[in-house]
Parts: sequence; C-alpha cells; structure tokens
Amino acid sequence: MEVATVGSGRICRGCWDQMKMPIPIRGPLSLPFRALGITQSKMNPNICTICERSFAYVKKQRRISAEATILFADIRGYTSLSARLDPALLAKIVEVFHDQCGQAIWAQDGIVNKQMGDGLMAIFNFPIKSERHASAAVAAGIDMQRRFHAALADLSPRVSESEAIGFGVGIHSGQVEIGEFSTYRSDFTAIGGAVNLTARLESQAAAGEILVSPEAASEARELMADAAVRTFALKGIDRPVRAFVLTASP
Ligand SMILES: [Zn+2]
Repeated sequence: MEVATVGSGRICRGCWDQMKMPIPIRGPLSLPFRALGITQSKMNPNICTICERSFAYVKKQRRISAEATILFADIRGYTSLSARLDPALLAKIVEVFHDQCGQAIWAQDGIVNKQMGDGLMAIFNFPIKSERHASAAVAAGIDMQRRFHAALADLSPRVSESEAIGFGVGIHSGQVEIGEFSTYRSDFTAIGGAVNLTARLESQAAAGEILVSPEAASEARELMADAAVRTFALKGIDRPVRAFVLTASP
C-alpha cells in the first residue's frame, strides 16, 4: 500500500512495516481505536501511538540494532536571539521551526523522535521502512531550510531581513540501537556512536548549512552535486571527519 501524500493514509505505516498489522488511524474504522486511545503519533501523523509507545510489544524485545539515518537540527545563536527578541516573536519563530521541519521530515517518512526547545532529532528508516533513508533525510534537510525561510519571511519580513536567523543540520547513516532506554518512559529513541557523531556534526553547521557525513552522502549521491567538502575535528571523535556541506539558497 503506497501513501501518496502526508496525512492521506488510513492505516499506521509503522505498524504495517514492523508487524504487517493494519491499525486504522483515519476514517470510520479508526473510531473504535481512538476510543481505546490509539491515535496518530506526534512523531509522525502516519504512525500511531502503539508504535510510538509500545516498542517492546511491536518488536517483541526491548531494543534492536538497526541501520538508520539520523538528523539533528538546531537554531543557531538561540541564546543571543532570546536576549534580543520579544519573547512572543521568539516563541513564534520556534513554532515555525518545529512546524516546518516536521512537515519536511514527515514528507520523507522520517519521524521527529525528540524536540528540545530550539532543536530536534529525527530518525529515518524506523518505524516506517525506507530503502533510501539517507536520500530521504538529505531531501528533508534541504526542504526544512527552504520551508523555514519562506515561513519566516511570511511571519515577519523585517525580522527575516535584519536578523540572521537560521538553523544548522547534521545527517549521518549507520548502525544504531533503537528501543526503550528507561523504565519510566515508554517512547523509544535511538542511541549509539552514529547518533553522537550526527549531533557533533550538526553542532558545526552554520545557519543555513546541512552537513552530511560520507556514509550518508554515498547513499544520497544524486543530492550532493552542489556540495562543498570540509574537514571537521569533532569533539569526542578521534579521526577528522570529511563532511559534505550543502548550503540552502536564501
Ligand atoms: Zn502504529
């Protein structure tokens, strides 16, 4: 079953890809499920709260090792922005950031796994399977930058011209551990060296930049034509990392 656009599918794509189980999340068949509290997940509206909160039930184990692409994004200069801007405007900018990034990530079948104020972490290839998850993440990164700048210009042309407001993105593909990592929270996340490397990479991205690791770039070659290459010394990572740098055109 192919879902053409975000928000159009009637069954949970996470439960379908993980268990081949059709859980209705839209339409009349979803009503009894809603009554039981099974609704669309906030991580992605095309997955449900079963695959969000019942990882151990879905996978029959607490954790799995899986190949995935991780994406981190975070607003640059947030502390100084929060000192300069009116709090209501700052809140609106953060809302635009999360809303536009979410739309871009969901359009590529990724999930917004964590939201951290001025930043987020997304996972591609779980629970919705995606053979081309690195390309999907890079396409989402490009789309996030484009959407954010368009929405910011609509929100406040004055702010968008006078302030260099933007966010950096880091993308890396590798083996990660996915599952539940505490006894008091039931939502899953991903951990491991590949996740740390992605976070470190993202911390080096200037506003408007998307830094893509060689591992992710080799699986997303068609999107790398305009990329520059820079070498980064990343905190906690022994070897220098040569990453591909995509810059969103304003
Ligand atoms: Zn589900």
